[in-house]
Amino acid sequence: MNDRYKDMLRSCAICPRKCGADRTAGNKGYCGLDDGIYISSICIHKGEEPPVSGPDGICNVFFSHCNIQCSYCQNFQISDNKTDIEHCRMNLETALGKITEILDKGIPALGFVSPFHQVPQMLEIIDELHRRSYDPVIVYNTNGYDTVETLQMLEGIVDVYLPDLKYSDPVLAKELSDAPDYPQTALNAVKEMYRQKGHELKISSNGCAESGLIVRHLVLPGQASNSIGVLSLIAKEISPEVFMSVMSQYYPPKHLSPDYMNYRVTAEEYRLVTEEMEKLGLYNGWLQEFESHMNYRPDFDKDHPFEDK
Ligand code: SF4
Repeated sequence: MNDRYKDMLRSCAICPRKCGADRTAGNKGYCGLDDGIYISSICIHKGEEPPVSGPDGICNVFFSHCNIQCSYCQNFQISDNKTDIEHCRMNLETALGKITEILDKGIPALGFVSPFHQVPQMLEIIDELHRRSYDPVIVYNTNGYDTVETLQMLEGIVDVYLPDLKYSDPVLAKELSDAPDYPQTALNAVKEMYRQKGHELKISSNGCAESGLIVRHLVLPGQASNSIGVLSLIAKEISPEVFMSVMSQYYPPKHLSPDYMNYRVTAEEYRLVTEEMEKLGLYNGWLQEFESHMNYRPDFDKDHPFEDK
């Protein structure tokens, strides 16, 4: 890793936790990672929004662990910071080999999923791909809990930002994700992404996103007012022209702690949220069909987490 990237990990403040851990000395902060590359899966994924997956899928790199701990995370097998992920430590050459094997099949986009706590490692991978004359569309697929400073470093490197905006309610953000500052922090992050990309989503002739911003929001059971607050923040503080992806795919994973999170989103809750989108003039983007939760349950114990076989 070059000195600039190593320096970022010496007193780590690359995500909003700002732990100050010297990861280069093997110390760990909230995310539980040193300065190694920790990847749980590199695979072709066809389940993103249509222009993100494109007709043939995107090469997704799923980083291990996370800087927030959502009790309902569908990727809990890899995102729980208590999980031992030593077996996920990957050297740069191995990661590059797996990525280029997929890109060589003609897949045009490379998505980094949950990259916020491994940004220097992600940049190292991108630099090396460029050195080897690969220039895929870079997708930054994030929970939205990013710092503006780190995002500013990514200007001109990331082509498509794919952030969540999960909460407008800090109490809910604390209870479900251990991040009470999430609403304001993520709003600031999305504002920075919007500053870089604006609302235009550039799509190639074969239907692949080449540049832009798509904000995702997952509706949670019993939390329609949180969702309506999120939509309002986007429309009023950013722009109603932002591309949105509103999802109903919530499905309670195993080991869930708050009991009420074991329910599903009701049709009435989803209707309230989608009606609010219309009222606010949020017309760009995608609305997931209600009752689509069965299609979105990965298993990271498999080589291909999103396939049934
Ligand atoms: S990336 Fe990890 S160590 Fe660094 S500030 Fe965030 S949680 Fe802390």
